[in-house]
Amino acid sequence: MELTAQKQNLVKACRKLAERGFVAATDGNVSLRLDDGTILVTPSGRSKADIDEDELIVVGLDGRVVGGIGRPSTEFGMHTLIYRKRPDVRAIVHAHPVHATAFAAARLALDKLIFPEVIVTLGRIPLADYSTPSTAEVAAAIEPLVVDFDAILLANHGVVTCGPDLDDAYNKMEKVEHTAAVNFIAMQLGGAKELTVDEVQRLASVSERSYGKKVDLNKIYR
Ligand SMILES: [Zn+2]
Repeated sequence: MELTAQKQNLVKACRKLAERGFVAATDGNVSLRLDDGTILVTPSGRSKADIDEDELIVVGLDGRVVGGIGRPSTEFGMHTLIYRKRPDVRAIVHAHPVHATAFAAARLALDKLIFPEVIVTLGRIPLADYSTPSTAEVAAAIEPLVVDFDAILLANHGVVTCGPDLDDAYNKMEKVEHTAAVNFIAMQLGGAKELTVDEVQRLASVSERSYGKKVDLNKIYR
């Protein structure tokens, strides 16, 4: 895909994050891996509602800015770590959606096996240890989790999701927030009931046919 189209996609994802209330003020950052291996990323300190294509920045995995003006997102180190560890990842979304961030603030992982579709697409949603935002601590905190998980809660901070393309990474962010919101309401009703090992195994046996995705039970029960 040519650069102009990639930039349009990235801006579209930023607008959606803002419209859905997944970010406040200048929160959040989005990036995608270009065909030459460099990363297209949102600039630091800009509202995702207002960003346009010519503000996006192209950065090498070494952190060197190779295109655009301004500074890349202060969380670029977190993006770099994920791209380094996950050659399959081509896009990353970081946001602070209210319900999922509330779980992160309470330091509660969304790791109960409740919704079949979430189990198939995300498995469990773990909680990374607390780290000071915009420092190298963030990358260190998520490092033990990035190989096995596409969505991670960041303690007292927010959520990061990744995927093979930007639509996928964005949809995972929506999924995490929806799961968190339903979970929260279920907690008022006495708590969601977790699927049994047998039920998860039955799901795994049909997941490829029904969802086009394989459930890795080793990751679910690691
Ligand atoms: Zn953040």
